[in-house]
Amino acid sequence: MKTSKLNDRVLPKLPGLPGKALAGAYILVALLPILVVSIMGRIAPASPLTEFGTALGLTATSLLFLQFLSSGRYERISGQVGLDRTMGFHRIAALVLFGFVILHPLFYVADTLLIDPHAAWDRIWGMLSSSRLRTGLLALVGLFVVVGFATIRSSPFIRYEFWRVSHSTLAIVVAAFSLHHALSVGAYSAEYPLRFVWFVFAFAAAVAIFLVYVVRPWRMWREDWRVDRVTPLAPDVWELVLRGPDATRLRFKGGQFVWMTLSPHRPPFHDHPFSIASAATSLPWLRFVIQEAGDCTSGLGKIEPGTRVAIDGPHGSFVLPAGEGPVVMIAGGVGIAPFLGMLEEAAALEERRPIRLVYAAHNTKGLASLTRLRELQSELDLVIYCVVEEELPNSDNLVGPLGKQHILDSLEGLQTEKLTALVCGPPGMMEIATDALLARGLSAGSIHYERFDYAAGKGQLDRVRRTEALFPFLIMVAAMIAFSLR
Ligand SMILES: Cc1cc2nc3c(=O)[nH]c(=O)nc-3n(C[C@H](O)[C@H](O)[C@H](O)COP(=O)(O)OP(=O)(O)OC[C@H]3O[C@@H](n4cnc5c(N)ncnc54)[C@H](O)[C@@H]3O)c2cc1C
Repeated sequence: MKTSKLNDRVLPKLPGLPGKALAGAYILVALLPILVVSIMGRIAPASPLTEFGTALGLTATSLLFLQFLSSGRYERISGQVGLDRTMGFHRIAALVLFGFVILHPLFYVADTLLIDPHAAWDRIWGMLSSSRLRTGLLALVGLFVVVGFATIRSSPFIRYEFWRVSHSTLAIVVAAFSLHHALSVGAYSAEYPLRFVWFVFAFAAAVAIFLVYVVRPWRMWREDWRVDRVTPLAPDVWELVLRGPDATRLRFKGGQFVWMTLSPHRPPFHDHPFSIASAATSLPWLRFVIQEAGDCTSGLGKIEPGTRVAIDGPHGSFVLPAGEGPVVMIAGGVGIAPFLGMLEEAAALEERRPIRLVYAAHNTKGLASLTRLRELQSELDLVIYCVVEEELPNSDNLVGPLGKQHILDSLEGLQTEKLTALVCGPPGMMEIATDALLARGLSAGSIHYERFDYAAGKGQLDRVRRTEALFPFLIMVAAMIAFSLR
């Protein structure tokens, strides 16, 4: 691959809002309907329980529209927060909004339930069979299907592309039913200010859908990217090199990823995320290290040079942190890909900070790109610890599987306060690594990781992040209580 000086190319700033500003904006938008009703509504409030039921319905509808924006595709919104956190939040928000939707009608009968449970049941049954409330019921059923389907998405009998298409389509249908329900039966929604809010939300969702399914696919085909070569790197692991136009507009930081669609498929439903394993110095070539996992990746070995490729990027915030502090990188298998991008970039920038790389694989053959990593050692203050699950004579490799002690040993002599840790690999390995880093005294904020799947992790750090993600919803519940008691 031809290289040019990195300072010829401007490294982009990560777009989007910082996490706290994003959370504040999210809470504000979610609560906009009840704020508008509180400030501008003319209807006298009903009982606190009924008002709480209304607040649940109004807030759930806002959350539903916000789901279109938290789908991880809008770098201008969530670029700084990263795909992992965005998708984790999207999952939690879906469950919370589903809970709100279920509780919404129940609070309308809560007054009756306390006095006469039988009559309350009759009222619920009346609601379920009422033609007036039909679109509300359909929205509830649709939401149940969307959430249920999302939880079994990774099972082997569901094709990823099918899940993508059905998830987006159903979400649009549920949003349409919810909007119809609010506008046709909601007393507050009959008033002009709240009606206006719903139209703004619907318009924003329509724009978001247009951007993802029309503008983005068009932009993905705008530049002529083609497969330059595909070569085997390790068992089931391929190096894919793409060649773009000389005047490509692509600008990225080492460690970021692109959504890629390989011909004969076309965007938007056949794209897959892959980390760029090269730096901007190598443009107009892009390098990827890809492991066979399923339909798309298993066919890599048969791809002919010259095959057209559509890419959308850069995405993600898994990049080398700014500053001079030491960095530890922990990679498992193909999780080495983003680190290759970061290390190439660090070498081009003549970084002098200490970098420790812990690279784990099942066996020595699985340590893809090790030769290049060794070359980079001459340009960087880089120490590499390879951990493999085999013992070979005369080998410097540490014997795995990767455990807490390997990580603690790799941090020998580094000051915890200034240390940043970056982790990427299979889910179990990431949990071992992040738990070990937390045990060593690193703060949750100084540990960054990128998952190659969308599953929720089970490590201590995943739990910390999930707890943090619940905070905005607690504020919403407090605001809804205040609304119902006004
Ligand atoms: C930010 C990010 C960066 C990634 N970088 C790399 C990389 O550099 N090298 C590499 O080998 N792999 C990478 N992956 C994983 C890669 O995207 C999947 O392995 C690939 O999409 C599988 O597609 P498939 O059709 O071959 O397999 P499938 O049979 O479709 O899926 C196999 C597994 O991959 C998951 N998956 C499929 N499509 C996607 C998708 N679009 N997004 C998320 N998960 C998906 C499925 O849930 C399933 O568990 C990355 C994933 C993410 C989220």
